[in-house]
Amino acid sequence: MHTPEAVWREAERALREAEHILAITHVAPDGDAVGSLLGFTHALRSLGKHVVPTCQDVPHARFGFLAGLNDIRQSAEGEFDLVVALDASDRTRLGAVFSPERHAHLPMLVIDHHITNLQFGTLNIVEPHVSSTAELVLKLIKQMGLPLTPQIANALLTGVITDTQAFRTTNTTPASLAAAMELMQHGGNLQEVTRQALLLRPFEHLRLLGAGLVNTKLEGRVAYATIPQKLRKELGVHEERGDGGLAGTLMTAQEVDVAAVFVELVSGDVEVSLRGQPGFDVSQLALELGGGGHPAAAGCTLPGPLKDAVNHVLPRLRQLVREA
Ligand code: 5GP
Ligand code: MN
Repeated sequence: MHTPEAVWREAERALREAEHILAITHVAPDGDAVGSLLGFTHALRSLGKHVVPTCQDVPHARFGFLAGLNDIRQSAEGEFDLVVALDASDRTRLGAVFSPERHAHLPMLVIDHHITNLQFGTLNIVEPHVSSTAELVLKLIKQMGLPLTPQIANALLTGVITDTQAFRTTNTTPASLAAAMELMQHGGNLQEVTRQALLLRPFEHLRLLGAGLVNTKLEGRVAYATIPQKLRKELGVHEERGDGGLAGTLMTAQEVDVAAVFVELVSGDVEVSLRGQPGFDVSQLALELGGGGHPAAAGCTLPGPLKDAVNHVLPRLRQLVREA
């Protein structure tokens, strides 16, 4: 999948014509979601556009070093003439910010790099071989000749660094390194971004990670763990969601080909994180389950209880390993 140059030019025209832009990134935002959203917002504001950056969920405090983080709103008030969806593979990922009644009639530019993207915009810049949505925003900024300020550079570098896990994942390409170099040359601070957005975390994440590791089961080459709400309470973890980095940590075991972490939400739904070693593709399974992602890292949300979600996913993971 490759976005034709004509679509890039149409996207530029739509952005230049728009006055009021609603920018939305995906629920439970990660570094690429927040970085792309802020980089895009700063850049389009330099053109004099009114841009409202939104996300259903409040971004994690670890992104507090990025300029404009507190400007991100959890709802979209006002009238808009263009919606821009960033790092989201389908409309449900936009969460409650996107209102079908108020926004479905508007033109929508989708900028994303998930292989499972459903091309749900009126214009779709979707490039699955690109490591991060931030790289796509950088390309757009350069195409439009907008100034690349240190604020924008740090926001976009956050996307590149978090989605490549500091250039360690299989989606890292020479282009990702070139993008990072350019962002550093324009004031991006690689060490600061890596430390703040990737390495540092609240102590409670470590407690959750520790407990999750103790709970992890290894069946053949499939590792899986559940994190019930009860466990979070026992550990005194304040955040409702997230696995403390457990899914990624499980992939550091030599005995593991694929991994799944099941996080019970307060609503009773279960957030599933899927991971696969190089050569394994968990994205299609996530898509079948109503979610999406990348070959090596994907996810979905399933109805509870936890046990049902586990029983639904595990046989499919075993099959995935058998067929590899
Ligand atoms: P994580 O396991 O770190 O939450 O997510 C890994 C990848 O899967 C990310 O690229 C994320 O965007 C995607 N992903 C996680 N959960 C969902 C989901 O419920 N729906 C979709 N479409 N993608 C998801
Ligand atoms: Mn991303």
